[in-house]
Amino acid sequence: MNILVSACLLGVRCRYDGAEKAHPLIAALAERHTLVPVCPEQLGGLPTPRPPAERRGERVVTETGADVTEQYRRGAEEALKLCKLFDCQAAVLKERSPSCGRGQVYDGTFTGALTTGDGVTAALLAAHGIPVYGESQIPELLEA
Ligand code: SF4
Repeated sequence: MNILVSACLLGVRCRYDGAEKAHPLIAALAERHTLVPVCPEQLGGLPTPRPPAERRGERVVTETGADVTEQYRRGAEEALKLCKLFDCQAAVLKERSPSCGRGQVYDGTFTGALTTGDGVTAALLAAHGIPVYGESQIPELLEA
C-alpha cells in the first residue's frame, strides 16, 4: 500500500534543528510499501532550521511565545492533500512532534514533559479516517 511518512524518518534533514531522524527499519518498510514523504512544518511555510514549537491547547507556540498555529494548520492541510492524491492507506509519523505526534505530544512547557494528544497533522489525518502509526509501531507494520 501507499503510506504517508514523516520525511525526517527517511533521513531528510527537515527537523526544527536541521537534523534528521532516520529510522533503522524505514528501508525495510520501503521494500514492502510505497512511501510518500511529507514534512508538514515545511509544507506550512516554516523555515529549516526553525524555533522549536509545542502544542498549547489548540494553539502551537514557540518557546518565545510566537504563535505558529496557522503554519501548522496549513502544513496539515497540505499533508492531507498529498495523502489523498497518492491514495495513502496509512501514515507513519514521528512520535511526540507537535505536527506528527500521535497519542502523546510535548505539553507546551518546553521542559520535555509529555501530555496526551496529537500533533496537528496527525489529528487531521486521523479525523479523515487515515490510520496513523508512530515509528515505534513500524515492527508491527512489517509483520502485518
Ligand atoms: Fe519530521 Fe514531522 Fe517535524 Fe517534519 S514536521 S520534521 S516530518 S516530525
